[in-house]
Amino acid sequence: MAVRFGVFAPVVGALVLAMGLAGCAKQPSELVVYSARNEQLIKPIFDRYSAESGEKIRFVTDDAGPLIERLNAEGANSQADILMTVDAGELWHAADLGLLQPVKSDVLEANIPESLRDPQGRWFGFSVRARTIVYSTERVKPEELSDYAALGGERWKGKLCLRTSKKVYNQSLVAMLIAEFGEPKTEEIVRGWVANLAAEPFSNDTLLMEAIAAGQCDVGLVNTYYFGRLLRDKPDLPLKLFWADQAGQGVHVNISGAGVTAHSPRSEQARKFLEWLSQPEAQAMFAGQNLEYPASLEIEPDPIVKAWGDFKRSPMNVAQAGELQAAAVKLMDRAGYR
Ligand code: FE
Repeated sequence: MAVRFGVFAPVVGALVLAMGLAGCAKQPSELVVYSARNEQLIKPIFDRYSAESGEKIRFVTDDAGPLIERLNAEGANSQADILMTVDAGELWHAADLGLLQPVKSDVLEANIPESLRDPQGRWFGFSVRARTIVYSTERVKPEELSDYAALGGERWKGKLCLRTSKKVYNQSLVAMLIAEFGEPKTEEIVRGWVANLAAEPFSNDTLLMEAIAAGQCDVGLVNTYYFGRLLRDKPDLPLKLFWADQAGQGVHVNISGAGVTAHSPRSEQARKFLEWLSQPEAQAMFAGQNLEYPASLEIEPDPIVKAWGDFKRSPMNVAQAGELQAAAVKLMDRAGYR
């Protein structure tokens, strides 16, 4: 112990100096989280953890892009212990840049399904976001719907609404289609969608659903929690969810997840926090805050979410959303999906 202290004392000294230079007085026991997940969704989780563990959590929220850039620029001087994002592609990107460290944890491996975590343990999904079909109950019968590809078919000519391809959710969806079907077939699917558009792509999922409700289009693709939020406010909207591709791979899922940063000053505490977050009660709370699904299929979702019915999730590892994201962006551009 004395030897270890002897070795580490200069390192600690350098860190304190670096923090002093950064103009930031930090408690040594305070975990620092960079989060692309909104404050209103994560603060209650952090508060609960602090109450249970006595450990304070300081957090910074921003979009994943700026947070990853910041981590990269800070390098070894970064005070961040955890990066949290709302898309697997972003976590993959951070890991690819060497900004996350592998974590070996039996607890995390037991609690988080394999398809929702990095094979090298650099990030883990704690909630699942399902991106599926939403339709007008006034103009569409569910029997007319099947999978993502079929939305490019003749039936939906001038009836489809999509969110912009700039949004990472659609980039991840198309990346997963590439993983499943290859580029030529996926390009055909995306070209079919573009040919069927009823309107210019929308800036968000809620506007898209309101357009369907208003009769501008009949079908679209959304993350289910946006459906949940909208219908909670306007329960009479004539909209319903359809579980896509149940005869094939299943519904495209993404994650809200996190990893321990490569230069975390408190990597042990960071791992403990992630382990806590993977416990059933914490997972249910993390998912429930945003009407998402817990990562583990053994944990019940919020009653509002449960009422939408069970569905088969795609078992493909969400890491592919990152690996194929650049290819997806290029493909959507070629196909004219703006
Ligand atoms: Fe979202």
